[in-house]
Amino acid sequence: MKIAIVGLGLSGSGVLRELLNRLPQKDSDQQTIDIYERKDHLGNGYPYAQDATEILMNSSPGDLSINPDDPDEFVVWVKENYPEIAESHDFIPRPIYGDYLNKKVQPLLADSRVNVINQKVHNVLPIRVDGHAAYQQNHKPYHYQLALENGELTEAYDGVFLCIGHPPYADHYQLMGAENYIHNPYPVREKLSQLDKSKKVALIGSGLSSLDVMRYLQLHDDHDWGHAISFYIRNLPFTIVRKPVFDRSSRFSLSKEWIDEEKQGNNGLLPLDHLLAKIKGDFQASGIDWRQLIAKYGEGSIEQIRYELNHEDAMLEALQGYIDRMKPLLSEINMSLSASDWQRMQSDYLSDFEHFRNQLAQPAMEDILIWQSQGKLTIESGLKDIKATDNGFEMVMADRTDTVDIVINTAGFEKNVGKAAQQDPLIHNLWEQKLITSGKNGQFIQVTWPESQIFNQNQGVHDSLYLLGFWIFGTQFGNNNASMSIKSGEKVARHFIDYYYKNN
Ligand SMILES: Cc1cc2nc3c(=O)[nH]c(=O)nc-3n(C[C@H](O)[C@H](O)[C@H](O)COP(=O)(O)OP(=O)(O)OC[C@H]3O[C@@H](n4cnc5c(N)ncnc54)[C@H](O)[C@@H]3O)c2cc1C
Repeated sequence: MKIAIVGLGLSGSGVLRELLNRLPQKDSDQQTIDIYERKDHLGNGYPYAQDATEILMNSSPGDLSINPDDPDEFVVWVKENYPEIAESHDFIPRPIYGDYLNKKVQPLLADSRVNVINQKVHNVLPIRVDGHAAYQQNHKPYHYQLALENGELTEAYDGVFLCIGHPPYADHYQLMGAENYIHNPYPVREKLSQLDKSKKVALIGSGLSSLDVMRYLQLHDDHDWGHAISFYIRNLPFTIVRKPVFDRSSRFSLSKEWIDEEKQGNNGLLPLDHLLAKIKGDFQASGIDWRQLIAKYGEGSIEQIRYELNHEDAMLEALQGYIDRMKPLLSEINMSLSASDWQRMQSDYLSDFEHFRNQLAQPAMEDILIWQSQGKLTIESGLKDIKATDNGFEMVMADRTDTVDIVINTAGFEKNVGKAAQQDPLIHNLWEQKLITSGKNGQFIQVTWPESQIFNQNQGVHDSLYLLGFWIFGTQFGNNNASMSIKSGEKVARHFIDYYYKNN
């Protein structure tokens, strides 16, 4: 049995761990697991690679163990390995989480079945048992060769797990190639440490990456910038603040079993009204008033953030605890609503829900308020366009045009597959040969659910070609967090083993 894992971040590590745990030991000399990782970080992946310690996790340390048998493993590990950080930080710097992930994957990499190949994968080629190209359904069972960046074509694999993380950054204002435009700010230590501090800097957006960049620029050495550093945003500045601990004791009656029961009684669908009634019942029992919370915190303005940071709010904490427990069910809910119910969910509830789900680490937001009051940062709302000029950039606002010297892109990922293909050779080649199929509006890549297998119109379902991570967010809604990534990897590895032994 020959298996390839492409990308060894959290999802890839989940796949690897489960394969090594579950593949029968008696056949171990027949098993090969080749890991293709383009970078030198193993186990930690892109978000938790070695970088500046100013950039923080937005998850509480207590939620970050990757050992299901020991939920406190990460907390204890930080205390042992970085006692001063454990003492001083409620939210741990991302590179330290990366160090933990990297240390924990080492014993798996030492397994004699595992080989690490430091190469970028540029294509996946389905082939038949006889080695010829497979392009239609009667050519199954498919095997796969990988085309590597160095031009090599690998041998055939029985199963391939594409655990390639998130799409490239979006170039919303067509600035790629312009001087003093930084399209991808990571690693911040490498890309941002040499910026000229007399220049005026603009960050596009005010999401998680914008906070990383702002923290790094404000904190990484003692010299002040000549100008305030500005977030340029279209409308709403921030989402909600995540406190280090919050109440998870409110009533929570959603479950996979309940969703399955609903589907059984409703032609395989979960009616949105039933879901809303269930949530409403829980909220009533726990004193959560959704409308009141939206009125109080739904704008994400500096004033609301300041109020949130300066007040204890048991109702908000209860809501955050509720949403946290909903996270593992979100993909199931997404896949179980009818098309019209999903549309209604999107138009009536989703943006408020996402506002409360996407939380920003409390210390990061406390610093933002301080820097704003000191005149070190500004928030410029009403961004319409950005134009590169001979001397810098024009920031076209609803009511004026500002000029800045340096623009740093922190405006999120390119979810459109066709556009992302222009920046990523693997996505380009998979897209070009129609191996992958995009979802609604050309966004995200379609996979089967819950198996996460790639499919297309010509070849049908690729039984042993899996795709994980943010690229399948349209199916696995809400998967942009650490714990879901590793669990998804484990789940698909179990599926592959079952599939393989049924068919061989
Ligand atoms: C900047 C950032 C910050 C985040 N912060 C948090 C946080 O604080 N808390 C949280 O819960 N979640 C956070 N997330 C969400 C994060 O995506 C998940 O937590 C998790 O890291 C996803 O794991 P993954 O394995 O899918 O992707 P990744 O960890 O990104 O791993 C993908 C790996 O694939 C490799 N790769 C990609 N393409 C190829 C190729 N063609 N060939 C070979 N190798 C390839 C990459 O080098 C990378 O190592 C953050 C995400 C980002 C982008």
